[in-house]
Amino acid sequence: MLAAEETEALVELEMIRLLHAALLSASASLVGASHAHVWRLPKESLRRTRQPDVGADLSCHAPATVWKRLPRQPDGTARVRTLSEFGVAREAEFADARALGLAIGEGMGARAAACVADVRVKEDGTLLLTTQLHMRRQRMLGRLHCAACGQFFSGERGLRDHQQVKHGRSYGGAKAAVASARRALVAYAPPGGAAAELAALWLRRAAAKEEQRRALPEGLAAARDGQLRALRRLVGEGRFDAHATVDRHGSSALHFAAGGGHVEVCAYLVDELGVSLTQAPLRNLSSSRFPPSTAVSQLTPYLW
Ligand SMILES: [Zn+2]
Repeated sequence: MLAAEETEALVELEMIRLLHAALLSASASLVGASHAHVWRLPKESLRRTRQPDVGADLSCHAPATVWKRLPRQPDGTARVRTLSEFGVAREAEFADARALGLAIGEGMGARAAACVADVRVKEDGTLLLTTQLHMRRQRMLGRLHCAACGQFFSGERGLRDHQQVKHGRSYGGAKAAVASARRALVAYAPPGGAAAELAALWLRRAAAKEEQRRALPEGLAAARDGQLRALRRLVGEGRFDAHATVDRHGSSALHFAAGGGHVEVCAYLVDELGVSLTQAPLRNLSSSRFPPSTAVSQLTPYLW
């Protein structure tokens, strides 16, 4: 592992320890210390989520299990009597698992809460935490946070579309949500002077991701470069679908082949593979895009 990645892993581990202790302490003061053993089980304790790119980076199932163990009232609620370390008796009531999870999340204490940007509670009481560190890392990767559901989306367009489709916002409302996501401050400074190291690491990741995004699928590159044999091989081996594969602008192999003036590749795609001539990008092709040496008349059958 590289030095910067080790630093990132250590910072995260330290943060998980701090947050776990804070959640355990909140749980103990709400429902008593007799449930503390639940928090020590690996599957119950605070840990990394499987898909942090999509949303929260940490999750904790313990509140869901603690809820199942609480004595229930006839109406389904749980009423718990606890005694504080100073001997003060307290009684708390929770309507459901979510209420318990929420109370535990809110009871974290200022130091731990300062590390957390967003807290969600699932129906069963499981806590989902998005740390400030994760928020900042996602921001550097160009991902914006949806305040309505806690998920991340690529760029302004991604969040705007999501706001309209998933949350039924108007175009104006979705734009306002994007602006507010961009304005949201990520007031997090990694401890021990690791900030610069982590920032550099995240920038490197962002650059690698962008390069990957820009890289053309092999088959499109072969069509662009007129490499008919390579293209045939990719199709033959089932590694390229000329009907469905497009680049990030929606351009197909036929588009690339026609754009590069590769008549023989166009012929292969259309005559042998049956690629449709009505693929949308082709309608936007003008003859001025072809190299001067290309006989437009030769290509015309493959354009319309
Ligand atoms: Zn959302």
